[in-house]
Amino acid sequence: MALLELKNVSLIYHSHDGETEAVSDVSLTVGEGEFVSVVGPSGCGKTTLLGVIAGLIAPSGGEVLIKGRPVSEARNMTSLMPQRDQLFEWRSVFRNVTLGPEIKRDKSKEICAYADELLSKYGLYEFRKKRPSELSGGMRQRAALIRTLVTRPELLLLDEPFSALDFQTRLTVCDDVENIIRKEGKTAVLVTHDISEAISMSDKVVVLSARPATVKKVYDITLDKSISPLKRREQKSFPVYFRSIWKDMEVHHE
Ligand code: ADP
Ligand code: MG
Repeated sequence: MALLELKNVSLIYHSHDGETEAVSDVSLTVGEGEFVSVVGPSGCGKTTLLGVIAGLIAPSGGEVLIKGRPVSEARNMTSLMPQRDQLFEWRSVFRNVTLGPEIKRDKSKEICAYADELLSKYGLYEFRKKRPSELSGGMRQRAALIRTLVTRPELLLLDEPFSALDFQTRLTVCDDVENIIRKEGKTAVLVTHDISEAISMSDKVVVLSARPATVKKVYDITLDKSISPLKRREQKSFPVYFRSIWKDMEVHHE
């Protein structure tokens, strides 16, 4: 059974100055343990789509199933890593990564121990009492990822998680994040407008059209998953995927 299934999902925003169709008839499936990227031009409806998958926005049409159950009944099975890391400066790193359970009054010993385990496994244990501003951009991103992992979600949703980083940092953080997600055996949906990032990190790339987002094409990425995303960029078929997806995303001026 697919872990995540979208069946003919659509979303229309209603506001006082009219309607905006953001997502139109999107169907896709994500298997257990799969890393899927969704690419599309800015403003096409990517964040909206993630919101629908996370159960934060009710779709106007269609349905979202997680392990065959409607997402509205499976809210705690997903965890969203937002576009900006949203670490709070007045809290220590540890208290940032355990914020979710703390709000839900569910900060159990087990969750704290798991947070510490993840912090130490991914090089942040010595920083657990520091403030976010004392971390590098890459370390902040790792902390934000650990925060989404502490509740042991079935499905990770990442919304352009690297967009605030400079290019160099971005490359190493991509490697980092991909490594952590695969090591923890998680299923992930990553949204980005960066084609290279999508190809280098994923098992599958879903290309969306301009707004309203529809699925234009789905690529199975057969690059070597035993090497890092950065190294995958040097593989022969990488530019072949790139050119093809670039073409799919080209804006046609009439
Ligand atoms: P992306 O993440 O791909 O850049 P979004 O999903 O944020 O795109 O937005 C898709 C479209 O929906 C945009 O035209 C945006 O202006 C519109 N939109 C986003 N959020 C809302 C909202 N809360 N109300 C009305 N329109 C919105
Ligand atoms: Mg967005």
